[in-house]
Amino acid sequence: MKIGVIGSGYVGLVAAACFAEIGHDVICVDNDAEKLAALNAGAVPIHEKFLPELLQKHRGKRLNFSGSVHDAVRASAAIFIAVGTPQSETGEADLSYVEAVSRELAHALAEAKDDYKIIVEKSTVPVYTNAWIHRVMEQNGAPQGSFDVASNPEFLREGSAVTDFLYPDRIVAGADQERCAAIMRAIYEPLTSGEYQKRADAIPRPDAARVPAEIIVTSAKSAELIKHASNAFLAMKISFINAVANICESVGADVQQVREGIGADSRIGKRFLNPGIGYGGSCFPKDLKAFHAVAREFGSDFRLLDEVIRINEEQRQRFLRKIRATLWTLKGKRLAVLGLAFKGGTDDVRESPAIALVECLIKEGCSVVAYDPAAMDKSREVLNSSIIYAESSYAAAKDADAVLILTDWEEFGALDLERLKTALKFPIMIDGRNLYSPKRMAEAGFTYVSVGRPDVAPHKSAVKAPRA
Ligand code: NAD
Repeated sequence: MKIGVIGSGYVGLVAAACFAEIGHDVICVDNDAEKLAALNAGAVPIHEKFLPELLQKHRGKRLNFSGSVHDAVRASAAIFIAVGTPQSETGEADLSYVEAVSRELAHALAEAKDDYKIIVEKSTVPVYTNAWIHRVMEQNGAPQGSFDVASNPEFLREGSAVTDFLYPDRIVAGADQERCAAIMRAIYEPLTSGEYQKRADAIPRPDAARVPAEIIVTSAKSAELIKHASNAFLAMKISFINAVANICESVGADVQQVREGIGADSRIGKRFLNPGIGYGGSCFPKDLKAFHAVAREFGSDFRLLDEVIRINEEQRQRFLRKIRATLWTLKGKRLAVLGLAFKGGTDDVRESPAIALVECLIKEGCSVVAYDPAAMDKSREVLNSSIIYAESSYAAAKDADAVLILTDWEEFGALDLERLKTALKFPIMIDGRNLYSPKRMAEAGFTYVSVGRPDVAPHKSAVKAPRA
């Protein structure tokens, strides 16, 4: 099928590349001329596993980039809207980018005067956006009956976006008209029939992947709510385990053991029960606020969400207090920070708790030397020149008073502890992601502070005099 994707960010670009991968002809549109030039020149603007391979394979063949919404509409049977829906000052989703695209789509449809097309919301939007898009498009000249609007929320996670797209837990297609639903089914057919996954050149299947993929067809409103409710539930799991971690700290229990015990219950599961410094990223914080705002607008005060947000904000403050409690005063301390991205596997620093913590540390007079495998360029844009960037974890740790782990990159959980200890001025690790076992860290000679577990001091046999 011929598909247009408007917006070539984390979601649009991955979706466009994956649609090409499963056999569709795709035009991906963006209004950022610099991004477009980079994409056309062969660059890969985001760090995402398997994306370079897909772009290399399909660019200029089944996947083309354009600055023109009209081109995409003219050529396509289905046009996906994947532009940003950031948080407005009042907490609601700012839908101005979606509205602007809807107007352009209407003008293009008015000109196209040909077949029926579907417009698909891929961006995360509040309930009733579908109806608004429809209304705005008709007001702007899209001929009645020439289009329908479907909702197809995206559940990919940055860091595993390509495999999440190609091996999804489920595909949700919200469509109020059968012919619109039929097109949605046809688009995803290579995944729902299992045909793609059988291909010899398919992107490797993750261990736990469901094959073939399941498609859940719902009303447009239900699909919109599914996305907001899913993100709110996942954020609630994170805040829940963080609240439990705080109780563990008060009573001297170990949250990792508690998590094992809770998560072994198949009704609960272990995923998203990872205590730490709280959730961040471009989705959870804004989507929770948007969901809360939309619930309020329709007469429901969803106060549970207030508490989820409050616990999350408090979690960062608690971590700062831990740093102070371990190092006493912060002014003049040199701290090695491992991780700037909001989570491992991505270069995205939007709403990253790591960035927020670094900003607080700088305000308190620390000097910060940071290392992140992928997010240093993006963090340079938000942190200006206020921190020093290192080439590796060990270079960041050199002569530091302590090392902080702020992002759950796999490589931070597999450090050469002896080498790290030698680099540090004092063998102190404050781990916001619980990547190590306290016992192991004590044996390796570290003072180790983590989340929801008792702090440990270096095992006597591993103690050596601190360097001057
Ligand atoms: P992004 O900011 O990375 O990308 C948005 C892109 O849209 C940008 O490249 C921008 O230049 C482009 N754009 C804006 N207005 C345009 C216009 N009028 N015409 C053409 N292009 C335009 O955003 P993202 O992270 O990809 O998120 C997009 C949507 O998907 C959001 O609603 C988000 O909540 C949702 N979502 C994101 C994720 C994620 O992990 N990032 C996951 C699921 C859903």
